[in-house]
Amino acid sequence: KETTSKNFIEQIIEKDIQEGHCTNIMTRFPPEPNGYLHIGHAKSILLNYGLAKKYGGKFNLRFDDTNPTKEKTEFVESIIADVKWIGGDFEDRLFFASDYFEHMYEGAVKLIKKGMAFVCDLTPEEIREYRGTLTEPGKNSPYRDRSVEENLALFEAMKNGDFPDGSKVLRAKIDMSSPNINMRDPIIYRIARMTHHNTGDKWCIYPMYDFAHPIEDAIEGITHSICTLEFEDHRPLYDWVVRELEYVNPPKQIEFAKLYLTNVITGKRYIKKLVEEGIVDGWDDPRLVSISALRRRGFTPESIKTFMELCGVSKSQSSVEYSMLEYCIREDLKLKRPRVMAVLDPIKLVITNYPEDTVEYMEVPNNQENQEMGVREVPFARELYIDREDFMIEPPKKYFRLFPGNEVRLMHAYFVTCTDYITDESGKVTEIHCTYDPETRSGSGFTGRKVKGTIHWVAAPTAVTAEVRLYENIVDEEKGVYNEDGSLNLNPNSITVLDTCYIEPSVKEAKAYDSYQFLRHGYFCVDSKDSTLEHLVFNRIVSLKSSYKP
Ligand code: ATP
Ligand code: MG
Ligand code: MG
Repeated sequence: KETTSKNFIEQIIEKDIQEGHCTNIMTRFPPEPNGYLHIGHAKSILLNYGLAKKYGGKFNLRFDDTNPTKEKTEFVESIIADVKWIGGDFEDRLFFASDYFEHMYEGAVKLIKKGMAFVCDLTPEEIREYRGTLTEPGKNSPYRDRSVEENLALFEAMKNGDFPDGSKVLRAKIDMSSPNINMRDPIIYRIARMTHHNTGDKWCIYPMYDFAHPIEDAIEGITHSICTLEFEDHRPLYDWVVRELEYVNPPKQIEFAKLYLTNVITGKRYIKKLVEEGIVDGWDDPRLVSISALRRRGFTPESIKTFMELCGVSKSQSSVEYSMLEYCIREDLKLKRPRVMAVLDPIKLVITNYPEDTVEYMEVPNNQENQEMGVREVPFARELYIDREDFMIEPPKKYFRLFPGNEVRLMHAYFVTCTDYITDESGKVTEIHCTYDPETRSGSGFTGRKVKGTIHWVAAPTAVTAEVRLYENIVDEEKGVYNEDGSLNLNPNSITVLDTCYIEPSVKEAKAYDSYQFLRHGYFCVDSKDSTLEHLVFNRIVSLKSSYKP
């Protein structure tokens, strides 16, 4: 997709500017503080922030906290941190919808005075019955013709706590025969005695989303209120509310398709279950796609931004390959991160003709593709570790790595030839013996002969021991995300813990969120929850191989 072509929202905004409908673009991200943000929310944040920035406008973070049942202060804090991290810079434009409760109440009173809202005593079941269906029009409530005075008195009494929860509601008076069910006298206020995280017990009536949201947007001067497709049918009600409350320059609602990713789990219900059953290690488990999980895994805000640009913005529902996100993080880290040697499945290699108690330093570029990253000194010694898969007793054809009698290059060091190996009772190789050729030192200009294989290594005396966690998709869509009984068909190999890996000493001081390329293995990030200087823990962000082609 061309990044220069304009998406349909940009086209709407530019037309609005040209036609003089608005000068200062204002957008917002309006999360409900009832859970952690995930990659889908990141799309909404970057879209809204990006539009404000592109058109010289402003971007608000607004908590849509009008439904106290599931809201928690804990989520407010995590959401603020996530929005900032992903790059949604709201400066000091942080708002709470609950700060507008008074204004919303006055809006409802205004509608009553205009004869456009009434207090209804029907039970929830009756309201549902009267509402009709897609094919049948609804019926007017018997309370629809209450006088303005009576409605004003009843609504005030609702606010004062004179009626039990659920016994009355305030409804907009629109059209019970509208083909759009949302327009059939929708409920705009309900009675519910709930303690709100911001307003405490001040209110026992709360506005419904469809009434509250347009008011929140209008108060803040939002010009383009961007939401997901399931609200398309609510737009006539949104427009009705801002029109009847007579806001000047009312906001405009625009819908786009939600982001869906393959091979991940985003449903709150499922994640909650995985957390409760201890299958994942919290909402930030690196196999999940909450923003905190992506951060912990080692994704960068830049990579997520590139990913969203590749996805584009559209009105048709589709799901995006997880491998595309992997492609974006590889591209982002490729020239920015040091490339170090790490042995994940170690086997000892002894260079029998190399002096004992000697450590030699090899000058190694920090990133072969980016000279600006400079060089470092990597110690080399008689005893090294190499990865088990780089040695075979009986190699198949085209195996150019180490086997008895074969010569390979130790990356950035010498040529070595395998002379012998030791096995335990089970036949497992425990040690490899080699000789080295001092003339072949890397950088010496040696051209006497060539070898076909190059393998990485870590010097045993100075190696840093680390735990490395390898991840695969938590579910596989080709095999089916769900079992017959509706439970998740989890990939049993979604995590592999390698508890004794050896890494070159340049990573010794690695801190939370530091990331590296481990040469020939992939990109790895220091785990922010479990890693300490005494016990380093790395998460594999992504391997080097790609199944995605841009
Ligand atoms: P969830 O139930 O997954 O938490 P939600 O819609 O309840 O999603 P809200 O807190 O209401 O979450 O959403 C805040 C904003 O994020 C809304 O504008 C919503 O449209 C947007 N959003 C939520 N999920 C996605 C998604 N998958 N793709 C794009 N935008 C999304
Ligand atoms: Mg939510
Ligand atoms: Mg929601």
